[in-house]
Amino acid sequence: MRAMDSHRFAVLAPAAARLALLAAVSSVVGLLSSPTIGLSVAVAGLVALLVMHLVYTSLLAAWLERPDLDAIPEGWGIWSDVFARLYRVRRNTEQNERRLQENEERFRRTISALPEGIVLIDATLQIDWCNPVAEQHLGISLRADQGLRVTNLVRDPEFVGYMTSARFESALVFQPMARPGLALEVRVVEFELARSILITRDITQGERVDAVRRDFIANVSHELRTPLTVVNGFLEMLIDAQAENGATRQHHLQLMHEQAQRMHRLVEDLLTLSRLESRDTLVTDEVVDVGQLVREVADEARALSLGRHQINVDLTPGFVLGSREELRSAFGNIVSNAVRYTPAGGTISLSWHEDANGGRLNVTDTGIGIATEHIARLTERFYRVDKSRSRETGGTGLGLAIVKHVLLRHGGHLDVQSDVGRGSVFSAVLPPERLLAQSNAVVAVA
Ligand code: ADP
Repeated sequence: MRAMDSHRFAVLAPAAARLALLAAVSSVVGLLSSPTIGLSVAVAGLVALLVMHLVYTSLLAAWLERPDLDAIPEGWGIWSDVFARLYRVRRNTEQNERRLQENEERFRRTISALPEGIVLIDATLQIDWCNPVAEQHLGISLRADQGLRVTNLVRDPEFVGYMTSARFESALVFQPMARPGLALEVRVVEFELARSILITRDITQGERVDAVRRDFIANVSHELRTPLTVVNGFLEMLIDAQAENGATRQHHLQLMHEQAQRMHRLVEDLLTLSRLESRDTLVTDEVVDVGQLVREVADEARALSLGRHQINVDLTPGFVLGSREELRSAFGNIVSNAVRYTPAGGTISLSWHEDANGGRLNVTDTGIGIATEHIARLTERFYRVDKSRSRETGGTGLGLAIVKHVLLRHGGHLDVQSDVGRGSVFSAVLPPERLLAQSNAVVAVA
């Protein structure tokens, strides 16, 4: 006998036994008294059973209206089994529902924690659900906008065009009008016949890096093209002009040499910058004698000035821990700028001082000065206040970018104060932990 059949038998057998008992009792009563009384006993027994079943049926109907597990009726006979089974079915259903709810909750929490924005949309682009990142990216709100078409809320033409084109093989990159400065990548994944997932990703940083790289390549190409055009032009003239006299030829060669030097300086500065940028931390920690370094830089400045400026040096002795080569390049750039942007007859003063805040190389000039709005941008690559003056004096536009990098790598920074027409003070500041007391420095050098 199969399990199902045996169970049915177990449930039905007592009911059948009760009917058999009733039949037996009423038969005995019929035999002992009269058949009418026996029949009455049988009818009374059947009526009692019917009433019991009616009572339990109405209890069942009432419970089914509000199937509360704790309020399930206790049954008698076959009804006890019915209610016990209903109890189990209901309990399993409740457990399944709870598990389903928990899974759905966990799923939503997981999606909410994603760094991407997720919007569930239907075939008519209506929003079913979205996570907080999508709310931020698209400027929508789940509470207020559920059931609305996403293209009515994000109205940027490229977004609307993409969503309505239904061609989702590639992603869309756009900058939402509602979120200036944000660059978004949008993808749509269709996952059911009439439902899709809209995924948004913030690619602002990547776009910015791309823009910087594009600008940089454009700038370098531009910087190299000008001297190359000049050199090319003169070479063509030299080839064509057989009759060119010696002095003219000499002049042209001189100009070509200058342009070649300019390209050389540019390439050197680019290499220095790329070396500085590709190393994350300082690899060398030498003991650098600042006094000696500043005197060397001042001598170079005198050579560059050719006697047109007065160059003063005021030093308290000092030693710092760092890269000598990098600091020399940074100090040299600041000082050569002072010479190049100070008209003849001006004064340039170099001083090194140490206090509790660190060491400070001040380079003060009486030059052309810089308007305040330019100061914050001076250390950007190729940023120049006056392009032609920079080029005439042999500038590459990279000097202060190098200075900034070197100082950053030493934990320091550049300070600039300036008055247009009166002069500037460029200060290379190094933090106290880079300074060495003289006695320590002597030991370290030894
Ligand atoms: P450049 O090679 O053009 O000098 P830098 O990066 O060294 O490039 O400097 C950037 C710009 O800062 C310069 O083009 C110039 O306009 C300005 N500048 C730098 N130093 C001085 C200074 N001492 N006086 C006035 N302007 C300066």
